[in-house]
Amino acid sequence: MVAEQIEARGVEDERVLEAMRAVPRERFVPKPYARLAYEDCPLPIGKGQTISQPYIVAYMTSLLELSSGERVLEIGTGSGYQTAILAELAREVYTVEILESLSVRAQGLLAEYENIRFRVGDGSEGWFEHAPFDRILVTAAPPTLPASLPAQLRVGGSLVAPVGGKRQELVKVSRLEDSFRRETKGGVRFVPLVGKGG
Ligand code: SAH
Repeated sequence: MVAEQIEARGVEDERVLEAMRAVPRERFVPKPYARLAYEDCPLPIGKGQTISQPYIVAYMTSLLELSSGERVLEIGTGSGYQTAILAELAREVYTVEILESLSVRAQGLLAEYENIRFRVGDGSEGWFEHAPFDRILVTAAPPTLPASLPAQLRVGGSLVAPVGGKRQELVKVSRLEDSFRRETKGGVRFVPLVGKGG
């Protein structure tokens, strides 16, 4: 998976590749799909949601440029697979999931990690009590980026999110001293963000 789907497509961050090798993806995929866990595609995880394609997980993680000391907010815990990758690479991960059953399942799978905090609820407006964050990763697509998310970045921090409706684009927003820089990083396809920001 790592060599053919991820390195071959240009993800070079060695720490990201190592985390992708270390986390057993089949644990996060529902039983009937376990033998497809390492295939080059997203898979259903129930409730109409999906675990993202391995390459997309690696690519988005690499855009965050994590160096191990960061506090990261993730919106959309889903299967918990991306959460595990973040927990391998950052100091603390705060993850929000709107569907309780998915969060509860992920909490069970991620019990061994001591650096993850879970919340069930609408993550459209981030997680105010724990802001500011060094990084924010959104794994469901809002039609436009809710302003409260970049507002919860510390100066020097950055956010990665899929944005759009039928056509979505990966967006990276960096918080500078007194402005924000926005870059686009290619087309993607995510489930829609629901809640206030949806
Ligand atoms: N990173 C996950 C992706 C799951 S799909 C994985 O690889 O498994 C996106 C998830 O975002 C879904 O579980 C969905 O329920 C959740 N979601 C959608 N809108 C949300 C919101 N407003 N707040 C928190 N989670 C949300």
